[in-house]
Amino acid sequence: MKIKIVTLGCKLNFAESSALMNTLLARGHTRAKQGEEADIVIVNTCTVTDTADHKDRQAIHRVKRENPNAKVIVTGCYAKLKPEEIAAMAEVDHVVAKPDKEFRHAYSKDDRTRCFLKVQDGCNYFCTYCTIPMARGRSRNPAISEVVAEAEKALNEGAKEIVLTGVNTGDFGRSTGEKFIDLLKALDMLRRSDGTEDYRIRISSCEPNLLTDETIDFIAGSRHFAPHFHIPLQSGSDEVLRIMHRHYDTQLFSERIAHIRQVLPEAFIGVDCMVGVRGETEERWEEYVRYVKSLQVSRLHVFTYSERANTKMLEMDLYVVPQKERERRSKVLHRISDEKLAAFYAENKGRKATVLWESKQDKGLMYGFTENYIKTSRPYDRQRVNTFEQTVL
Ligand code: SF4
Repeated sequence: MKIKIVTLGCKLNFAESSALMNTLLARGHTRAKQGEEADIVIVNTCTVTDTADHKDRQAIHRVKRENPNAKVIVTGCYAKLKPEEIAAMAEVDHVVAKPDKEFRHAYSKDDRTRCFLKVQDGCNYFCTYCTIPMARGRSRNPAISEVVAEAEKALNEGAKEIVLTGVNTGDFGRSTGEKFIDLLKALDMLRRSDGTEDYRIRISSCEPNLLTDETIDFIAGSRHFAPHFHIPLQSGSDEVLRIMHRHYDTQLFSERIAHIRQVLPEAFIGVDCMVGVRGETEERWEEYVRYVKSLQVSRLHVFTYSERANTKMLEMDLYVVPQKERERRSKVLHRISDEKLAAFYAENKGRKATVLWESKQDKGLMYGFTENYIKTSRPYDRQRVNTFEQTVL
């Protein structure tokens, strides 16, 4: 059978789609080529917001239009949360929505340069706005030795950058009694079978309460970990953080950022920010904006809140931010993010850095990222794909 997998959502979904495709290829199926009609299309969905659900449905319509004779199978988070809604779509032949209790290994290797390695799945936090624990189940992880074996395999297949991925990555160890920092230490010691060790590792995202000073110090002194952090903040108002049932306050968050800046001044720090959640009154929003402006971070990833069925937040008696106002607030944070990113790039001007060149070619140029996640370009040169190069920014 010719198979096509369409993936929506996060890095975890991409890693899992890749693992699924490899299993199917190993069983004798083939990958449908670009533009070729597939016999089976699998749509791996996301359900983080209403917009995500909408994009999933659009993708399902599109794949059926492009592959009119194919069987369409839908899986992923949306399929797990609302299987009936998807099964009711005329284009859909099967919904695979078995809740997962085990940990399934996955890493993506479609782009040889960067590999998304799944180290953790699920979440026990139950933030009041979030449906992910319902779709992905409880927090679980494999043993460090298993992750090390997967990472070695990826490196031996040519990966130069590994991105550690999970739903709540820093919660690694909950099901094995091991520690997240010990995982990082083990991965920092890897070598390829030919003895080479030119690779780097990024951590896709880590909750601020789990990103301890000990972990930050280890990253600062490590051989392979990039000075790159992605930390969810979600609100800059302590009242709203409490409503969201987050596990930290702005003081702890500020301390983490200060510690990173102290030991890794050049680090890229990306911060997830949600806007328009219930309870985000005008006063709390102003507090949020003031707080975010004061943070020494490099970029904000802005998400607009949308009501999700079966979440605690809907049972709470709270101020509801009108839709138009949610959109306005999102624009405000996007503007602040643009300013922060421009300032970060300006600060790095003239700094020496190492770029890992990627395979994509666009208008005669190739692109890559430095260790602290600055995007750079140069005229395309095939020989440089998946190689490191020293550069001055
Ligand atoms: S930490 Fe909170 S927002 Fe993140 S996946 Fe878990 S419940 Fe959802």
